[in-house]
Amino acid sequence: MDKQPFFHEQPRDGRQIVYIGDANHAVSPFSGNGANLALMDACDLADQLCGCPSLHDAIKKYDQLSMPRAQKSLRFSHIAIAGVHSTSWRNWMVQMLIRFIGLLVPRR
Ligand SMILES: Cc1cc2nc3c(=O)[nH]c(=O)nc-3n(C[C@H](O)[C@H](O)[C@H](O)COP(=O)(O)OP(=O)(O)OC[C@H]3O[C@@H](n4cnc5c(N)ncnc54)[C@H](O)[C@@H]3O)c2cc1C
Repeated sequence: MDKQPFFHEQPRDGRQIVYIGDANHAVSPFSGNGANLALMDACDLADQLCGCPSLHDAIKKYDQLSMPRAQKSLRFSHIAIAGVHSTSWRNWMVQMLIRFIGLLVPRR
């Protein structure tokens, strides 16, 4: 249950809507990352609006920062859901791996 991010297009009537956070790229709650993405989007958009000479440039640069980040997070969430949140043999494998790593980590 997620949504791929999208680039903003040049508005035809001069009015621009900028979609940030879940409005642009809703990730599954199981990814545990949607709020962080939304906060980073807000900071990056504010930075670009302050630093760019035009709205068009600001949104273009914002998209270049936001899109790859959201795509990476979506990819990672699919891996996490397939492993950690699964009820199949994959979950068993992940649990075994975590226990194995736990044995290797020295305890105080
Ligand atoms: C069960 C669950 C667990 C989650 N766990 C995590 C987690 O552990 N870590 C994490 O990072 N993320 C988590 N998330 C994801 C995170 O909550 C969202 O990605 C994040 O809140 C998105 O922020 P946002 O500002 O884009 O959208 P939202 O937080 O959804 O904010 C949008 C706001 O707009 C308001 N609104 C909507 N329509 C209108 C309108 N027409 N007029 C005025 N206001 C409107 C809404 O009421 C809402 O307040 C979880 C999500 C869920 C559902």
